[in-house]
Amino acid sequence: MAQIFGIMQLAQALRERKTSATELTRQALAAAKNRVDLNALITLDETGALAAAERADTALTKNPASALAGIPFAHKDIFCTNGLRTTCASRMLDNFVPPYNATVVDKLAAAQAVAIGKANMDEFAMGSSNENSFYGPVKNPWDTARVPGGSSGGSAALVAAGIVPFATGTDTGGSIRQPAAFCGITGLKPTYGRVSRFGMIAFASSLDTASVLARSAEDCAQVLAAMAGHDGRDATSADRAVDDYLAALAKPLQGLRIGVAREYFGAGIDAGVAAAVQAALKQYEKLGATLVDVSLPNAALAIPAYYVIAPAEASSNLARYDGVRYGYAAKEPKSLEDLYTRTRAEGFGAEVKRRILVGTYALSAGYYDAYYLRAQRVRRLIANDFAEAFKTVDLIAGPTTPTVAFKLGEKNSDPLAMYAEDVNTVAVNLAGLPAISLPAGFSEKLPVGLQLIAPAFEEARLLNAAHQFQLASDWHAHKPEGVA
Ligand code: GLN
Repeated sequence: MAQIFGIMQLAQALRERKTSATELTRQALAAAKNRVDLNALITLDETGALAAAERADTALTKNPASALAGIPFAHKDIFCTNGLRTTCASRMLDNFVPPYNATVVDKLAAAQAVAIGKANMDEFAMGSSNENSFYGPVKNPWDTARVPGGSSGGSAALVAAGIVPFATGTDTGGSIRQPAAFCGITGLKPTYGRVSRFGMIAFASSLDTASVLARSAEDCAQVLAAMAGHDGRDATSADRAVDDYLAALAKPLQGLRIGVAREYFGAGIDAGVAAAVQAALKQYEKLGATLVDVSLPNAALAIPAYYVIAPAEASSNLARYDGVRYGYAAKEPKSLEDLYTRTRAEGFGAEVKRRILVGTYALSAGYYDAYYLRAQRVRRLIANDFAEAFKTVDLIAGPTTPTVAFKLGEKNSDPLAMYAEDVNTVAVNLAGLPAISLPAGFSEKLPVGLQLIAPAFEEARLLNAAHQFQLASDWHAHKPEGVA
């Protein structure tokens, strides 16, 4: 069988008995082993995958089977998997085997999708390049001297390299959209609360969002349909019906008003990236959409507010890693304090320590009002900017990232330059909105991502707009050289 990697095509081949879940899983496992150079996986679960494939093959004999039945994929190693090591790319959790599944893991297992393993990522999802992993950096399949983006870089590289047709990830400040842009694939970050956070290792709880990376908007719709829904085990989970994302895809874009955010084309945005995004927006006009100039006046405050709020929440969430209950523990401690301090000194990497220092500082008495409280006020202003813009437009557009994928080592000695990569993505998390990044062209022979942002719970509108673009263009079908 010719190798095809979209979920829709694979599901059809499975229905027509042209292949089996076991065959697809064997292919994915072989492809993963063939590309160890990418360092995209922390754990390959051959036994578990083949057992799940066998169960899917049985399910596929029944009619109707789930659309994801028998489709191989990977989980970002931030989702707890019962009995399977879950590291969050940290030495702190190198030996951690969870006794339970994340809700997302349960839901995709119930849909009979076949998890082949756990994808590499930035430690505790902190990063924009996937160079902060205890297991080493992930390489970008378009150019292995470059980063895949972060923090869901392993997930993105696996999809871009054609190893699996989709992968799970998380987006706290851009970690789905930025790697999607750098790797030439489609990444959807749902509304905060749309997908359960239960069993997803916490970074910044008011921002963390379980998400999906795939080859197309249509495939993202398929996976989101399986992931979304209310979960009583997550207090912030939205108790509201899940829309029919697939049914919404076909709607023509006539009359759609796309707000082009002036600030998203500001200083620091590469000319080649801006040009590709502008050309994609012209294509939207041809599809019947109207482009409207909009302003998000507080956009420049998003990075400073995010880099106070996210570290503050992280410092609190990461207080649990003390060497007592689970995870890494320093050897031969002389006292309880020695156990705590050495466990944390030895178990966390440099970026995680930086965030804990910044976060505890911002939350400490005397500084709380000046930093944390002020950042929360800015967060409200940023959310208000979006609310104001959405009074006149249906979606907001701009480049996902200021640059194309940069070289490994280029920015990791300069944290502020790295944080600046998130200039167009973090505001969306501060406001809790859904957004998608879709391939929109090339600059310097590397993929460029177009970001579309929607009002809360309008994932169907985003997927529809992205799908119609993908019907009329083929940017999403481009693959790195050598990828089938
Ligand atoms: N790059 C951002 C950070 O390092 C976002 C990370 C994420 O979305 N998980 O915080």
